[in-house]
Amino acid sequence: MKVIHTDICPVCGDSELLPYLSCKDYLTTQEVFDICKCSKCGFALTQDFPSENEIGKYYEASAYVSHSDTHKGIINTLYHLVRKIALKSKAKTVIQYAPKKAGMLLDVGSGTGYFLNKMKSKKWIVTGIEKSEQARLYTKQKFDINCQDSGYLYDIPCQTKDVVTMWHVLEHLERLNSVMDRLYGLLKDDGTVVIALPNKESFDAAHYKKYWAAYDVPRHLWHFSPSDFEHLAKRHHFEIVAVKPMYFDAFYISMLSEKNKGTFFASLAGLAKGSLFFLRTLNNKKRSSSLIYILKKK
Ligand SMILES: [Zn+2]
Repeated sequence: MKVIHTDICPVCGDSELLPYLSCKDYLTTQEVFDICKCSKCGFALTQDFPSENEIGKYYEASAYVSHSDTHKGIINTLYHLVRKIALKSKAKTVIQYAPKKAGMLLDVGSGTGYFLNKMKSKKWIVTGIEKSEQARLYTKQKFDINCQDSGYLYDIPCQTKDVVTMWHVLEHLERLNSVMDRLYGLLKDDGTVVIALPNKESFDAAHYKKYWAAYDVPRHLWHFSPSDFEHLAKRHHFEIVAVKPMYFDAFYISMLSEKNKGTFFASLAGLAKGSLFFLRTLNNKKRSSSLIYILKKK
């Protein structure tokens, strides 16, 4: 298997990457991957991850393409309710920081298209980029929205988008710095970038350590804290104008992490601990399980 070995920290350029944690791929193969940490800036990365052409099999089991639209069962009903609230909250955040009431929006990693559809209903002209053909077809059939394959990111004319969103996507992309450069290029000067990422300095990450579900190796290649991401944003001439917590993730990630640990009644235990982490983040938002970063050009 072709793997990508990283010698130089993609955030600060330092070459001392030290072993930090060994984590298992709980979702698909049970293989173990090492996470290294930059001794200079603290950024962490999955070492020797499978290359873009080979990583497909690690996505197969996929909770990743979850497009069940059945409303049967409590878990499913809850899932749909949470998704609905989360969508509303994402749209609200985007509109709050967008340069205008409606304009051109690009969602990178648009999945099954629910967010695109939400923004379309608010009069935005939307484009999605999605690697999975199955998800693109679903988006077309369900919402009549056309999505493009990954390469399209590099075909978009410069300075044409008012808003670019990436909901839990950047941590999956092999070419971290090149993607950040491209976002800068395709964004209008007064545009807004909205990026949601797991937070490796969250209360739940500190508690679960190698079992923390948001390490999600080898699918998550990059592991950010707020200061790591600020460093990366600066390097690409962005400034972070706001950071917002994503409250639901503490529950979901804690439930999965308990499952990774092999806890009995993992969902219940996860919900209980997730509630504690959630309450603690009310006073300390930067330790939230996931964070939304709002970026503007400097
Ligand atoms: Zn570094």
